[in-house]
Formats: sequence, structure tokens, C-alpha cells
Amino acid sequence: MAKMQFKSESKRLLDLMINSIYTHKEIFLREIISNASDAIDKLCFIALTDDKLGMTRSDFKIEIKADKDARTLTVTDNGIGMDKDDLENNLGTIASSGSYQFKQELTEKQDDIDIIGQFGVGFYSAFMVAKEITVITKKYGSDVACKWQSAGADGYEIEECEKDGLGTEIIITLKDNTDEESYDEFLEQYRIQGLVKRYSDYIRYPIMMEMKKSRVKEETKDSDKPEYEDYFEWETLNSMVPIWQRAKKDVTQEEYDKFYSEKFMAMDKPVKTIVTSVEGVVTYKALLFIPSATPYDYYTKEYKKGLQLYSSGVLITDNCEELVPEHFRFVKGIVDTADLSLNISREMLQHDRHLLTIAQNLEKKIRRELSSMLTSDRENYEKFFKAFGRQLKYGVVSDYGMHKEDLQDLLLFYSSTEKKLVTLSEYVDRMKEEQKFIYFATGENAAAIDALPQTELLRSKGFEILYCTEDVDEFTLHSLMTYKEKRFCSATNDDLGIENDEAEKEDEKDGTALLTFVKETLGDKVAEVTASKKLVSHPVCLTAKGGISFEMEKYFNSVQPDSGMKAQRVLELNLGHSAVRTMESLIQTDIDKARKYAEVLYCQALLIAGLPLENPSEYTDLVCELI
Ligand code: ADP
Repeated sequence: MAKMQFKSESKRLLDLMINSIYTHKEIFLREIISNASDAIDKLCFIALTDDKLGMTRSDFKIEIKADKDARTLTVTDNGIGMDKDDLENNLGTIASSGSYQFKQELTEKQDDIDIIGQFGVGFYSAFMVAKEITVITKKYGSDVACKWQSAGADGYEIEECEKDGLGTEIIITLKDNTDEESYDEFLEQYRIQGLVKRYSDYIRYPIMMEMKKSRVKEETKDSDKPEYEDYFEWETLNSMVPIWQRAKKDVTQEEYDKFYSEKFMAMDKPVKTIVTSVEGVVTYKALLFIPSATPYDYYTKEYKKGLQLYSSGVLITDNCEELVPEHFRFVKGIVDTADLSLNISREMLQHDRHLLTIAQNLEKKIRRELSSMLTSDRENYEKFFKAFGRQLKYGVVSDYGMHKEDLQDLLLFYSSTEKKLVTLSEYVDRMKEEQKFIYFATGENAAAIDALPQTELLRSKGFEILYCTEDVDEFTLHSLMTYKEKRFCSATNDDLGIENDEAEKEDEKDGTALLTFVKETLGDKVAEVTASKKLVSHPVCLTAKGGISFEMEKYFNSVQPDSGMKAQRVLELNLGHSAVRTMESLIQTDIDKARKYAEVLYCQALLIAGLPLENPSEYTDLVCELI
């Protein structure tokens, strides 16, 4: 029997497989099983019209056998089979355009071996683990069977042989173990079982394996020392019908929850399950879950966003990042579309038009679902928001605010008047007639914000304040700039847009000398000293002038201590407060003491604003002196 050579382009791919240093060699099994399933599809179709075949859909199956002594792994199907020409054309060359494209890409990017593991490379991938492959096959309509055999690079042989029944048997003789690599794992039944579950669980035909099991020997059943014996039993390894292919009405929430926790190894229950099936320009089914708890690694680099991508029940990739936008990166789930080829590479995936359309549809769908949850199931929405609200806020801030319109109505902030989380829309609907801005105040927590002197006036006017307690909150509002044409305004802003009444104006005039005195005393520490319009019971407070707020100053200095970021400080004095009045009268009688008062009051304003004192011991000395 003459040795035949592989076609040159196939040879290159083959070389790559044989010498592969790729760690995910396991995907070869997925490839072989997918081929078997395709072959069955073809014969199954013929069986519909050819009664002579005498086969119905339930007769079709794929079998796997592992022989530890011979070190062979055999995958058998009763599909359409191949004749001599097919073997030459299909296994002697790279048949599919997908594989060819793959090869082209490899030629351009030789170092990118990684894509082997991610995408279909077909029959040849078996050479990553095989030292020899034998294919025994009999084609529908053919009288003879053929045997194809190859030990890789130096070509293949084809000869006629005997075989009962139609279909193909692929016998893979595993490579010898080396110091670095053991191929024996592919003979272990639990490993094979795991691989089938992982990559081929939704192949539509049963994938069967004769499993070795253990049981108590019948005759020792009742004895004190029961003895065990091995026995073999055929088992179907795959679940065949994926849950997302079943009609929503036929699946219980418990089943979805179970699938979610098994598939994504999640401990929580999803707060929302989204099932969608689309037919049209693109055809796909998607099953998405919105978790109720933040995964422990969510805000780390370890967390990988993305959905699982299947093509007709075969896993293409575990994490197709392109399918979900960054602001919904918490969504887990799967997408199954027949519009993709198994042989698609990562580069091709990124630019695939079908996939882009699916991603856009899914983004809208997730948004709609969240929005309807917000209106109709507030309790669960708040649960979700506690877990992932921060992500939505990042979404508003990132990409230069590109997604803010889409996300603003999904945001919640704690309200000073409602004492619960509210939406921006609810806030604006409640705004008082004379109220110009949407007010917010920033601090560690609600209690700290309530204690801020700057919020006193707002509260006394009955204006609602949104509490910003997370570092991203204030940035979010800055990014939004306005909501329904209302501007956001920080309580620490020097202009709260509240009209002075006459009495306050009088006060302001009276205080001019005092304000000048305090400004001169404090020098560059403050940009301005003003008569406060917002203080009611506190003597002083600090507000920020210009674009940088205190919270921004604190945030930037915490992430980059030498950032030099400093908000311009405006010291506001409550001219009616007794401490301020005392200072004023001291200017005449004891100017040194008046200066000390000014210093102490300034330090107090810093402390209340949560800003560090420049010299804490000087401050305590001063206080003691005055006491
Ligand atoms: P692809 O599956 O992408 O076409 P492969 O290299 O995996 O590429 O397979 C090449 C061809 O060999 C297949 O298209 C199919 O025609 C044939 N083939 C492979 N395995 C089988 C099988 N088990 N039964 C019938 N034909 C097969």
C-alpha cells in the first residue's frame, strides 16, 4: 500500500498540531465529536426519505471507548461515513474554508498558538495527542469500507477493509508520555466525561461511554464485610437538549437557577433570568442571568466578563467579551447562534457582524429588563443595585460619558427627605417650585452628611439632598451634568442658587470688616472668606470654589498622593453665631486672641469637611489656650 502525501497546506497545519505546545490539547475531542455529529446529521436527513435505511432519529449515537492497554481512544458514529475519495479529499487536505483561513492567520501570526484552543481546527487537532490515527469508515450507498491510517507528517495510507454498518470509527493511539506531558489522562473515564460535559454537552445525539462502576457483590450483600466488584454500564454523557433551546414555559425557575449555579459556579440566586429568542437578520437564542450578589473577584483583574458562545449547541468560547458591554459586565449567560462557523478565530469574532448585532440587541434587552424591574419589582432591583450599582455608575463616567443617557434612569441615590433610595426622575418630579438645582452632598455615610453644616440651609428649606457615599458617586453626577435640564449642585458649592433675603444682605454688609480681618489672618490658606447664606446653627463651614470639589481632592490624593489636586477653599462665616460675634468684638479689644479664634474656626471647618489639618498639635494647643 503506497504512502500518500498530505497536500502542502494541510501539512503545515499538521506540523503545527504535532509539535503543538498548546496546553489545551483536550479540545481535539470536541472536534472529533462535532465531526461525528455532523456526519449523523447528514445520514439522519437521508433517513427521512430513504426507508430502506431502516433507521430513525433515535437510532443515531456517538460512542467513546478508551482502551488503557492499547492506549487508544475510539470515537464511533453511525453517520454518513466516507468513501475512498472522501478520505482523500477530506482528510488529505484542509476541506473547510474556515480551517484554511485559520491556517492563513497562523502564517501571518506564527506566535499566536493560543487560538488553537479557542476555536475549531478540525480533525487535525487530534494529532496534538495522537501518534497514530486510524479511520475505519463505510459510506452510505457504498459496499466497501475503507481504512485510512496516518502517523502524522510522513503521509497516510488508504486501503479497503471490513466494517459492519455505516459510519466512522476514529481510533486515536495516544502519544507516548514524556517527562513534561502525560497523555494517559485522555484514557480516564472521569476526564473524558468531563470533557464531553464541558465542550459537547449539547450535541443533539447521545454520546455514550461504557463506564466502569463498582458495586457490592450480591453474595456478600448481607455480610459484615461486603466485597466489591467492577461492572460496566453504558451511560449517556451529554444532556443533549440545552435548557435555552427549551420553551420558557416548559422550564421552571428552579431549573434555571440550578443551571445558573452549576454552569457559572455561582453561590447566589439570579435576581433576574432573561430568556430571549430572535429570528431575523440574525438568529440566536440567549439565556442571561443577572446575579444578586457581587462575585468576590468582581472588581479585580481575575474577573472575566463575557458570555458563553455556542454555535448550534457546540461551545465556541467560554468568554465572548464582545457580547456584553462593560457597564453590564456582571451579566452571565450563554448565546447560541447558528450564524457562526465553528472555525471562527478570535480576530474574526471581534469583527463578526452577526455578533455585533447580537451584542447590540442584548444590551438593549438587558437595559429594558432592568428598567422594568426597577418599576415593577423595586425590592429586587434595589438588591441588584446594591450589588452592581457601582458598575452602572462607572458606566456613566467611562467612555467620556457616552452611555450616560442610557444608564441615568437606572441609577439610585439615597435621599435625605425620603430616607431611601430614589431615582433621579423621582427627585425631579418632587422638586420645589423655587428649587433650581438637584442637590447632592458627599460624605462617608448618611449620618456624616446630615452633620455637615453646609447642608443646613438646604434642609431648612426642605430641599431634598442626594447622598453621595461611594467614591464614584460625585464623578457620576459631574459626568451627567444635568438631568431633565436640571443642573446638579453640590451642597459644598459656594453658590447654591438660593436667593438671599434682605436680612441676610444686611448681615453681609455689616460683616465686611470682619471678613477682611479673617482673610488677612488666614492668608493663602483660603481663597475667600464670605458671610454664609447656608449656615444656621454652625459657626463656620468650608465650601469649594471652581471645578474641584473636596471629595475629588480627597479621592485623587488617596490614589496619587502627589497629585497636587486641591480644591479652592472658601471659608463661610455664620455672622449671627455667638462664636463669630465674640471674634468680631475681640478685634477691638484683643486682636491677638481674635486671630487665634480665626485659626481655630478655620481648623474646625476643615475637620467638618473631612480634610486633614495642616498642623494638628498647633490646633489643640490653640484650643487649650482659649479654654
Ligand atoms: P471541518 O469539520 O471543519 O470540515 P475537519 O478537518 O474536522 O474539518 O474535517 C474534514 C472533513 O472530513 C469534514 O468536513 C467531513 O466531510 C469529513 N469528516 C470528518 N470526520 C468525519 C466523520 N466522523 N464522518 C464523516 N465525515 C467526516
